[in-house]
Amino acid sequence: MDLLDTLTAKGLRGEVPTREEALAVLATTDDELLDVVAAAGKVRRRWFGRRVKLNYLVNLKSGLCPEDCSYCSQRLGSKAEILKYTWLKPDQAADAARAGVAGGAKRVCLVASGRGPTDRDIDRVTDTMAAIKEADPEVEICVCLGLLSDNQAERLKAAGADAYNHNLNTSEGTYGDIATTHTYADRVDTVQKAHGAGLSACSGLIAGMGESDEDLVDVVFALRELGSDSVPVNFLIPFEGTPLAKEWNLTPQRCLRILAMVRFVNPDTEVRIAGGREVHLRTMQPLGLHIANSIFLGDYLTSEGQAGQADLDMIKDAGFEVEGAGEATLPRHRADIAEAAQAGGSCGTAASACGSGGGCGPCGGHAHAAAPAAEATISESSEGDDELRSDLVKVRRRGAGTELAPNA
Ligand code: SF4
Repeated sequence: MDLLDTLTAKGLRGEVPTREEALAVLATTDDELLDVVAAAGKVRRRWFGRRVKLNYLVNLKSGLCPEDCSYCSQRLGSKAEILKYTWLKPDQAADAARAGVAGGAKRVCLVASGRGPTDRDIDRVTDTMAAIKEADPEVEICVCLGLLSDNQAERLKAAGADAYNHNLNTSEGTYGDIATTHTYADRVDTVQKAHGAGLSACSGLIAGMGESDEDLVDVVFALRELGSDSVPVNFLIPFEGTPLAKEWNLTPQRCLRILAMVRFVNPDTEVRIAGGREVHLRTMQPLGLHIANSIFLGDYLTSEGQAGQADLDMIKDAGFEVEGAGEATLPRHRADIAEAAQAGGSCGTAASACGSGGGCGPCGGHAHAAAPAAEATISESSEGDDELRSDLVKVRRRGAGTELAPNA
């Protein structure tokens, strides 16, 4: 297929495809799917070999959020029966983080619900990072606290944070349909603040909220332009008790096409399969490893993932290997761009100057869907059955915030 030959050649050179080529990936048929995966796999192996980076989520503060992100089980008015608790103490968070690192995680992601942190919250997270790094100085820490105010990113950087997550989630054009309490521009601003302070930018998307192919391509190109070093691809988890509970718009094949499109647009950037991996890819998860070079180990913020050991077994069985603490994630040229941008105090990008992208949401990326603030008005053809699937969506009842051991 000419399209795949072109995309492979561009990806191997680290070049970004055209918007039309990205759209064409999403339009491929199921008969072409394995060819699409194989082409994306060549690009993935060119820049990331057979390594899989493991990331581990610690939900520092769960639920009770005043924001109205429609995909989130922690949002204002959510009826989802998730764990709700306020800030974990530093030693509690460090215990959870240690379990993830022992399971093979290279990066710990510290997430808290809410619009954004107070300066006192930055103090709490500073103490938490110190407790984690005291136990394991090598571990990477990514922080996700929502919208940042002036100087908060600098404080996090000085306290030892390596990265900041704030997802764009969807296209600028449809952002107002999934949240009304903050804007796409707010998210862009926070990613730029984080990047400008020298933090690695982690910013991604959520697929399956009823968006169009054009929306998906828009947000993925925006992320590329924004200079995100890692791109988490969430697949909406339609939580019972939320307005998006019946938004079953994804199939495993659709998820693989989306991942492939993200890979072609971000050939040399970390692409992470995030929330919804087990729910939507299901038995096709190993094929996702041929495209993405990063996943979360174990559970998510408010939903359970498969057993951590099952993640490790899958990686091994599929012929991949867990990325070690001493191994660089990004290829050298890409890491140089990121470091130069951070040193220069500006939002860097592999392709161009800092664009108008967006930020990650207040803990938005690892979405465990929920109720739209504004009832989700974006919709398109549904591949789903419009029914609740409590057999697939399991609320997290273990790990952080409980007496039970974390899943790692
Ligand atoms: S994504 Fe973050 S800010 Fe939005 S509702 Fe959920 S917890 Fe609140």
